Amino acid sequence: MNKFLLGTNWKMNKTLTESIQYTNDLMPIIEKYPQFEFFIIPSYTHLWKIKETIDAQKSPLKLGAQNMHQEDFGQFTGEISPVMLKEIGLDVIELGHSERRQYFNETDEAVNQKALAALKHGFIPLICIGEQLADKNYGVSKEMLAKQLKIALKDMPANAISNFWIAYEPVWAIGVNGIPAETSYVEEIHNFLRTVLIDLYGTIGQEIPLLFGGSVNKNNASDYARLENVDGLFIGRSAWEPDLFEELMVLV
Ligand code: PEP
Repeated sequence: MNKFLLGTNWKMNKTLTESIQYTNDLMPIIEKYPQFEFFIIPSYTHLWKIKETIDAQKSPLKLGAQNMHQEDFGQFTGEISPVMLKEIGLDVIELGHSERRQYFNETDEAVNQKALAALKHGFIPLICIGEQLADKNYGVSKEMLAKQLKIALKDMPANAISNFWIAYEPVWAIGVNGIPAETSYVEEIHNFLRTVLIDLYGTIGQEIPLLFGGSVNKNNASDYARLENVDGLFIGRSAWEPDLFEELMVLV
């Protein structure tokens, strides 16, 4: 039985000092909540120092990167390779966040290439999928999500699939302008995603953690967390301060 996952992507926020402070403040908190598996996803430039900070405390806090190139080395100015991230000793690679898709033209095919590379290098790929508001309004959310998921997982060997985490993050629910999703809607979509995974991988599909994200806050966290096919919460703003994060833990 997997632990319930609780994690946060800091996006392009926090200085190095703030990041280390957060990590130092969070580690003693998470010791009080052994029922959860925690992860944080800071900026690339802070990863080495944060890894040292985590290791110094022998903390189980998992550490991830917000993106990764699929090639080991090469002429890809501005990119970071799996080999480089492996040297740091990361656990998780977040791929396909809606902001990467929207502002950096990240396609489903690119997410698939990166996910295959992440797996090859021993990371847990955290694949983000989510439909646009128009998809929801036209009643095609499930088709869009199944497409994203199937392309992201193309050629993924069944024996590797249990090492994946999938985050469902409806694009219209993310960020300051996001509208929190109805619990019943999240339930319907997570149940649907589970059936897609089972269709693809049989019983192993039952074990792949499905996280929910998008305007999760202390008013709705426990409602989402209680849903049968929600195996974790992936949180932005409401987890950017350790004490806010702890308020969520108490509720989940
Ligand atoms: C996100 O950007 O992935 C996210 C979940 O953000 P927020 O919780 O701030 O909506």
